[in-house]
Amino acid sequence: MSTAATELPAHLDERDAAGIIAWAAGEFADRLVFTASFEDPVLVHLVAEHAPRTPIVLLDTQYLFAETLWFAQKLQATLGFDLQVVRPLAEVRPDDQWMTDVESCCHRRKVEPLQRALSGKAAWITGIRRVDGPTRADAPVVAFDAARDIVKINPLAAWSDGDLASYIIEHELPVNPLTERGYPSIGCWPCTRPVAPGEDKRAGRWSGQAKTECGLHVGEKS
Ligand code: SF4
Repeated sequence: MSTAATELPAHLDERDAAGIIAWAAGEFADRLVFTASFEDPVLVHLVAEHAPRTPIVLLDTQYLFAETLWFAQKLQATLGFDLQVVRPLAEVRPDDQWMTDVESCCHRRKVEPLQRALSGKAAWITGIRRVDGPTRADAPVVAFDAARDIVKINPLAAWSDGDLASYIIEHELPVNPLTERGYPSIGCWPCTRPVAPGEDKRAGRWSGQAKTECGLHVGEKS
């Protein structure tokens, strides 16, 4: 992959998420994929509108909140996108590993399934935003993920929480029920708690542990 393909075209502003997604769809066509956390509806709506042939992948770890699974199905039924649920390998069964070894648990339930989801793809859309927290403060809109040999596109990198809220209101979109219960960042139920006012948005993820990222975003500082 050439480095030129990792540069945002000059006519696009980094806040123009619709333009960025439409550009990616034109540039990468059926080699584009989007992995969604279904934490909120914004990027799912944008991709469904501006890159409608792009598969939207849900990594089902076996430990997602019931609310997240419901929300993904609700959005799919409303927006009609190509929802692809990617699960861990058959030998990975529900167990207690999240209690003792979160790195291995995330690898078997997130990282390995992601590798399969990205196989054969040239570009990968994610929902990373700089305001998610210190570990994502420098996230680029477009970058080459050398670890995965893929162009990584973060159309909402420059968006604020207010931008997100305005978009949801403007387009009358539903939200994940957990959002209104104090979960600004939503992962697996064993490793996610609600946060208190003033806490970092991702403070509820692996709370009390050194871990801050699940391992999906390792090719850049994100
Ligand atoms: S977030 Fe927790 S439960 Fe989910 S895969 Fe990682 S360690 Fe396992």
